[in-house]
Amino acid sequence: MVRQGALLYEGKAKKVYATDDPGLYIVEYKDDATAFNGQKRGQIVGKGEVNNRISAVLFKMLERGGVATHFVEQLSPRTSLVKAVDIIPVEVVVRNLAAGSMAARLGLQEGTPLARPVLEFYYKNDELGDPWVTEDHIELLGWADAATLQQMKAMAIRIDQLLTAFFRQCGVTLVDFKLEFGRTRDGSLVLADEISPDTCRLWDAKTGEKLDKDRFRRDLGGVEAAYQEMLARVEKGELA
Ligand code: UDP
Repeated sequence: MVRQGALLYEGKAKKVYATDDPGLYIVEYKDDATAFNGQKRGQIVGKGEVNNRISAVLFKMLERGGVATHFVEQLSPRTSLVKAVDIIPVEVVVRNLAAGSMAARLGLQEGTPLARPVLEFYYKNDELGDPWVTEDHIELLGWADAATLQQMKAMAIRIDQLLTAFFRQCGVTLVDFKLEFGRTRDGSLVLADEISPDTCRLWDAKTGEKLDKDRFRRDLGGVEAAYQEMLARVEKGELA
């Protein structure tokens, strides 16, 4: 059993602690919710536990599917043990249907199907509001080299396939999601951060009901209930 050490970092949704093993961190998921680059703030009661438990199920599923992740094990309802990584400051968004900023920017109706997954990249920088960037920006500004970027893209597509299939058996359409990657101490590239209703758009496959953070962003009500519903479906899906 590792021992929890100093708080290394506190973000909008998680705290990261050192442990007595320099190769391992403990992440603690919070109930705090933000949207629109921190302009909207609130709490979603129980979110920390929901996101930790959903992420644990999904990271284990991805590992079984051959995707390397930072996940080691869930320690408690709100905490997990993860490999220490240096985060690559690029958010990779994968889209299966047009929604959110893509629908708004390009004048598409939300839910417009895309013939194959669309990848987008954003520079992870709160001060700049996570601006959209191209592959050239990523390479030439040194956030990731060409080989790493190709590896991230291939992993993102594989993750999309595995997540889409998993959510389908939960009766959920995976509309889009955001990924972050990092490098472990031994230099390997792994999927990091979280995969949860905070970072995915998840629609009920039959009714189209939103079961994700858009309920908070757009003041749709029933936020806590939607997170609990997703947890129940994912934990049932894990057993299927
Ligand atoms: N997303 C995220 N963190 C961000 C931005 C986006 O997790 O900082 C997720 C978001 O939940 C959605 C997907 O990435 O599942 C695409 O988001 P989009 O670009 O449409 O932006 P948004 O509408 O969330 O501002």
